[in-house]
Amino acid sequence: MIQQCYYCEQIFESKEKLYDHLNEHSKPKSAQIKDRKKNYPIVCSDCNKDSEVPFQPKKDRPVYCKECLPKHRTSNKQKL
Ligand SMILES: [Zn+2]
Ligand SMILES: [Zn+2]
Repeated sequence: MIQQCYYCEQIFESKEKLYDHLNEHSKPKSAQIKDRKKNYPIVCSDCNKDSEVPFQPKKDRPVYCKECLPKHRTSNKQKL
């Protein structure tokens, strides 16, 4: 039976191989592959939906999901 890693979605032919592979994920973070995009989980300050942003959100500032961000970006802009 085919097994899929739930961390990186790689596919393995047997449970043994999957378990072997899962050990890789339990290694210290520094040993993991770095080229995966790191997203930070957030709760949108506008619609309160769970979302992710590619930057570290600041605690004292509102953070918005992809849908709400454009609204808040343009709201303060002045016309020239
Ligand atoms: Zn994996
Ligand atoms: Zn939102």
